[in-house]
Order: sequence, then C-alpha cells, then structure tokens
Amino acid sequence: MQASISDYQKIIGKEHLETIYRIAERLSGKRVKMINSTSVGGGVAEILYRFVPLMNELGIQTFWEVIKGDGEFFNITKSIHNSLHGKEEPLTQEMEKKFLEVNQNNARSMSFDEDYVFIHDPQPIALIEEKDKHRTRWIWRCHIDISSPLESVWNFLKNYVEMYDVSIFSAPNFARMLKIPQYQIPPSIDPLSPKNREVRPREIENTLKKYKINPERPIITQVSRFDKLKDPLGVIHTYRLVKKTTDCQLILAGGTATDDPESVEILPQVLSQAEGDPDIHIIELPPNSDLDVNILQRASTIILQKSLKEGFALTVTEALWKKKPVVASAVGGIPLQVIHNYTGLLVHSVEGAAYKIRYLLNNPDLARRLGENGYQHVRHNFLITRHLRDYLLLLIALDHPGENIINLG
Ligand code: UDP
Repeated sequence: MQASISDYQKIIGKEHLETIYRIAERLSGKRVKMINSTSVGGGVAEILYRFVPLMNELGIQTFWEVIKGDGEFFNITKSIHNSLHGKEEPLTQEMEKKFLEVNQNNARSMSFDEDYVFIHDPQPIALIEEKDKHRTRWIWRCHIDISSPLESVWNFLKNYVEMYDVSIFSAPNFARMLKIPQYQIPPSIDPLSPKNREVRPREIENTLKKYKINPERPIITQVSRFDKLKDPLGVIHTYRLVKKTTDCQLILAGGTATDDPESVEILPQVLSQAEGDPDIHIIELPPNSDLDVNILQRASTIILQKSLKEGFALTVTEALWKKKPVVASAVGGIPLQVIHNYTGLLVHSVEGAAYKIRYLLNNPDLARRLGENGYQHVRHNFLITRHLRDYLLLLIALDHPGENIINLG
C-alpha cells in the first residue's frame, strides 16, 4: 500500500508537514497536469508515480499523461538526450520534422485546461505550441544536465524552452542562460519506498546469503548501471589498491539493458577484470530490484560512486539516507550532496578513492559521523516532501508575477 502524506510526519516532523498543508491550502481547487514520455522506468516516472497521489491527497487535482510515439520518435529523442550530454549526434531536418509531428499529434489528443502544466524533459517539449490556445501556465521541468550540449540541438530546443513561463533545473550548474525565469529544484528520494524504507536485520541476512557475501568483513559497494561513465573498471582498480593493505569485499551491482550497446560492451570487461577474485561480487540486477538495492546499500561498510560524469546521482542520495559513509567523484550533482569532510569524501582519481576508503575503514568513528551528517543533509534537502513543497511554492509564485514577497499567512 502506498504511503499517505501523513506517514511522512515521523520523518520530517509535524511542523514541516503542517507547512506543506498550509501551502497546499492556497492551491486548493487548482488543477495540475504532469506530462512526460514514459509511465515506467527512469527517475521521472518513479517520482511522478509518488507525486501525483500526494498532490491529489493535498486537494490539488493532479493528472499525469504520457505522450505516445513510435520507435523512430524515441530514437530521435535518444539522440537528443545524447546530444544534450555533448555527444555529436546532430538532428537532420527529417528528424526535427518527425519530432514535431509526434508532438503535434499528441497535442491533438490532449487537453490543456488545467491551471498549470509541467512538461518533463525534451520529449514533449513542443506541446508548448498549444500555449496561445489555453490559459494554463507552462513549466518546463528539465531533469538532465544541459550545461554543455551540442549547440545545434540545443538551439533547436531552445526555441521551445523560451516559450514556457518558467523552467526548473536540478542544480545550478545544469542550466543554461535563458530568457525565461529559471528555478533550481533538486530531485528527491522517497524515504518510504521499497528502495529506501527501513529493513529488518533478517532481510539483510537473507539477501547477503543469496549473493554469497560475508557479513563479517568490510563491504565496499557501488550500485549503478553498467555504463562507462559510472567507471566500473575504475571501481575494481580502486578496490585492488585498497585490498593491498586492508581486508575488504567489493559489490558492483547494477542493471544491464540488452538494447543498450554500451552496457553489453562494458559488462564482459568488468567480469573479466573481476575473474578469479571471490571477494568481488558482480551482481546483475533485474529491473524492479528496489528492495535488493536498498539491502545491498544498507549492508555496505562504504558506498563508492566513482563516476566520470553524473546527473544528480540519486544512488548517492540513497546511500546518505542510509547513514553510509560515501566516497564519490566530484562530478555532476554529487558535490551538492557530498560536502567534503562533512557528509562524505570527494575524490578525483582511483588513487584518491583508494586512499579515502582505506582511511575510513581505519577510522570507523569518522565514517559514522559522515554517515549521520549525510542522513541529516538528505532529510533536510532531498526528500520527496521538500520536493513537493518546492513545486507548490513555485505554483503560488507563478500566480504572483513580479512580486518579491508573497504573504502565505
Ligand atoms: N538503480 C536500480 N537498479 C540498478 C541500478 C540503479 O534500481 O541496477 C537505481 C538507483 O538505485 C537509483 C537510480 O537507479 O535510484 C539511478 O539514478 P542515478 O541518478 O544514480 O543514475 P542514472 O542511472 O540516472 O545515471
């Protein structure tokens, strides 16, 4: 059964929950629509799945619609995604035409009579062409880092972005100069979901047994898709350097997608690097392994995130929430979460990561302190309730254009 908004009181406290109720009252009777491109898989769907019922519970009628497209359209949007991350995958005129056609076809079968419409990410971005026909306020919610895109693709999208009333980015360094207002709203995790809820010691015991991991010896873990940018080979290299002086085991857990040529390429390399070492556990997780992810993170002594590039890195948020000492590369959204020497340790190389891990394994008090600070940092800044509150405040701000101070009393 899904959690109700009141269930979060035990985590964030009565006062914070009441603030959310009070803000929501100001929006009572308003209607909101969320539009993205998939109902399952990926962080956006995961967050909307929880958000929509919570908004409705708060008296704000919220609908969620998913645009439809064929394989060709989603190949184009994948190219757009890659280009926004700087890859050289320019759009041809035919691709642009197809992208717009699919958006226009979707627009014809949708209504936009809500007070506010959130368009998530680039796939449905051109629905904004409907703007003049409807009196709704349009919000472009960008979940990706678009700070160094392929310019031609960005220029194509920018024409649409700047038609919106406002935009939202997850971190200041993810954004671009735009003519419209930009808000910074980081993503969040749901502390009551299977991936983050408390687990019983028995559940940890059983899962470690299933994966043949020794609970008595230190465990270093990285949970991530098998992707070059998550640097799984660097993780193994780091572990080997640690192991020279300090006993430990390594868990590299993640999913692979058969339709992702890169993961198919990297996994065999990872397996061959790990071969012959019984203390390296390469765990291929099927989709929907949320509870296993939760348990592997909780069973770990140290969580490593040795990425070469990152988005926000929700795996780091999840680890900090579980009071784990985190050693992570200073890339993407990680420095917003790992405040060096306070909520974790930031690193810039394999050697640096190995040194810090060894240091933490030998200083359990520091490790505990970092974990506790990390938990508090996430509790205050990166839970779904803060995310919800920020969205509600943004909606109120949209109704008060040009006002510097809005009285919520
Ligand atoms: N994750 C998962 N199974 C896997 C690998 C990752 O459930 O095999 C989850 C992970 O717990 C996190 C999300 O997928 O919630 C990954 O988000 P993140 O921002 O860390 O990285 P991304 O994969 O989006 O680059």
